[in-house]
Amino acid sequence: MMQVFKQLVLRGILWSGIPHLFRWWNRERAAILMFHGLTDRQHSGLENCQHKHLHVKRFEAFLQHLKDHFQVIPLDELIRCLRLGLPVPKSSVVLTFDDGFLSNYTLAFPLLKKYKMPATIFLATEFVSEKKPIWVDRVDYALDHAGRTKAELVETKKKFKSMAPADLMPALQHLETSLGHRLENSNAENAPPIFRALDWEHVREMQESGLITLAAHTHCHWILGRCSAEVVKAEVQRSKEIIEQETGRPCIHFCYPNGSREDFSSETESIIKDLGFESTMTTLCGFTQPGESPYLLKRFGITDDMDLMKFQWLMSGMDRNQV
Ligand SMILES: [Zn+2]
Repeated sequence: MMQVFKQLVLRGILWSGIPHLFRWWNRERAAILMFHGLTDRQHSGLENCQHKHLHVKRFEAFLQHLKDHFQVIPLDELIRCLRLGLPVPKSSVVLTFDDGFLSNYTLAFPLLKKYKMPATIFLATEFVSEKKPIWVDRVDYALDHAGRTKAELVETKKKFKSMAPADLMPALQHLETSLGHRLENSNAENAPPIFRALDWEHVREMQESGLITLAAHTHCHWILGRCSAEVVKAEVQRSKEIIEQETGRPCIHFCYPNGSREDFSSETESIIKDLGFESTMTTLCGFTQPGESPYLLKRFGITDDMDLMKFQWLMSGMDRNQV
């Protein structure tokens, strides 16, 4: 009942024209949106239970809203404005996708072309080059196939995220062995479609369109805050070099795996700057102000449990928790 009441109030506010005023008020600030994969099916069990993969129809509704009220600009343009101390283009939005899921090509790219919207894809290069599933997806897969609960999934991920890679990998293998389920190859026939990785041919075709920028997201998707300085450098450098080799273009933007406050430090940041990156992204939430540093940028995470009203509310800047 309370939920219905809240929905009615929200709908009333959205129809009142107030969001328009907020959008105008926030027009000098940019919003960087974070997506992962898209999906065109309904999921059951633990598959997509944390809503990381957005239904393609929902994604298109969000793009339509952006087309009607905002201007979607390339990440390069936003970074150029920040570096030169210029105002950011009015009501600007930057689209980003993390990890390198195949659905970025099969489901998102056709819509980005239809709406002529640029986007940046941050690639975990081991996932794309070798089809080794990202470790968090291996946790999802093993627990889902063993019929475990969402609470167990959340708890297990939380525990694993606090571990250094040298402890995490044996712990993950032990978990998989004890549950009897292991996702070996993200593009294998029996792998759930949402876990599949892009191929470099897809990456190059998207880059050729002029709409898509490719950027680095480490090689193995380790959380850098749990790694030694040597591993941080190796992970970031390897991912940059592979992307540059495969695309023939400089790779100058980086995105932290997990990206919360404890997942990076001034040390990781200076290693990444020394490798020649011009911007870094986190998963901290908020708008980007003109004159802000292009490092440790905040983003709005967009998930499949968000309806169009919630998205409109978020994009207007009316949500006090998200500014
Ligand atoms: Zn990631």
